[in-house]
Amino acid sequence: MTDLNIQFTCPDCDHSFFLDSEEILESEFLKCPSCGCALSEEELRHLRIAINYMKEKSTH
Ligand SMILES: [Zn+2]
Repeated sequence: MTDLNIQFTCPDCDHSFFLDSEEILESEFLKCPSCGCALSEEELRHLRIAINYMKEKSTH
């Protein structure tokens, strides 16, 4: 399986960080390592859909 690292920029503190796609799919919630601001459930759901889509693309 291809490793996907996804870059985030925190909307609260502008801190940029990378998360592993597997971590995103397996985590209950995600938060900024700098300020602890959590992603909303909706954002996380969209993100998971996008990751699954990218994974499908990369395996073909
Ligand atoms: Zn932050």
